[in-house]
Amino acid sequence: MNLLTIPFLDEIIAIRRDIHAHPELAFQETRTADIVARELSARGLKVHRGLAGTGVVGVLRKGVSQRAIGLRADMDALRVPEKNVFAHASQNPGCMHACGHDGHTAMLLGAARYLAENIENIAFDGAVYFIFQPAEESEGGGKVMLQDGLFRRFPMDAIFGLHNWPDMPVGEMAAMPGPVMAGTCVFELHLRGQGCHAAMPHQGVDTLVAASHLVLALQTIVSRKVPPCEGAVLSVTQIHGGDAWNVIPDDAVLRGTIRSFKPDIQALIEAAIQRVCAGIEHTFGVQVGISFDERYPATVNSAPETEICRETAAGILGAKKVRTNEQPSMAAEDFSYMLQEKPGCYVWLGNGSGSKGRTLHNPHYDFNDEILGIGLSYWVGLVETALRPP
Ligand SMILES: [Zn+2]
Ligand SMILES: [Zn+2]
Repeated sequence: MNLLTIPFLDEIIAIRRDIHAHPELAFQETRTADIVARELSARGLKVHRGLAGTGVVGVLRKGVSQRAIGLRADMDALRVPEKNVFAHASQNPGCMHACGHDGHTAMLLGAARYLAENIENIAFDGAVYFIFQPAEESEGGGKVMLQDGLFRRFPMDAIFGLHNWPDMPVGEMAAMPGPVMAGTCVFELHLRGQGCHAAMPHQGVDTLVAASHLVLALQTIVSRKVPPCEGAVLSVTQIHGGDAWNVIPDDAVLRGTIRSFKPDIQALIEAAIQRVCAGIEHTFGVQVGISFDERYPATVNSAPETEICRETAAGILGAKKVRTNEQPSMAAEDFSYMLQEKPGCYVWLGNGSGSKGRTLHNPHYDFNDEILGIGLSYWVGLVETALRPP
């Protein structure tokens, strides 16, 4: 398949900018979901609403086979005050589409429209589920959709996702088998000592000295315990303790995040944190309360579905423009929950550099409308490739 000529591309750009101007936070994407449902209905797709509250699923069928795939876009915005001043800048103070989910939504709507309007000329056999999920950023809307029966109500053989990628030029994509985004876990370490006068430290148990040693000791876990070829990060991001110049406080709290790609590496790091904390307790006489909160799992692509994506992207952009061995990202993605239950692939789509290429979650970020046609062509091509008639 080639890059498509899309007669209604201006309308898709207008939808993208309208969604950008009206960003909505996790599980509050009612206006966006209304646009999605209206657009899908207008093209004759059967529309299901209410999964994970604001989630929308559109269904398009052709032929008689029981085969089915899911194409997923995310709809939510971020709690970031927009610093752009263009006409489609956010009209919702404190909230903006700084991750390009406005573009993902518009692009998938465009693909649904193109497929519906050209269904006689596009060779595929089976069902396509267009999945628009809420709350990708931190709140795990993808997982809630699964809990609400996404795969039970819409049985599918594979699921596919896409994210714009600002570090990559326009006209390039990446489709890698295996882990592509990290799993994430946050931790809190609560140190309890014995407060005392700062001039008489021998009368107490100093939590701040213990906390300082603990931060340094934690740095040895990834460097000394995780096998060097495995990717992992342990960052301490908060230290809280003390209020006065002349008081050694009773308590101190450390917080941070762990990123890794495999459950056994995550378990190894958690066990090492417990050992290090036990050592700090013995050495300094403090007590350390430990809590872990595992958030998104790693996003892991299955090899056969990744090959379908690579083949599709290569057909549109040329094989040299499709990267297959990029380094995974240490960021996390809740599409991971869907990939834990179904085979599938999550690809990156170059968003270009320059003024439109500012990094994701930056207050100056904007989704690049130049890539809408590429992403739309990719989704249409993927339907043709994955649901090729037997
Ligand atoms: Zn994001
Ligand atoms: Zn995102």
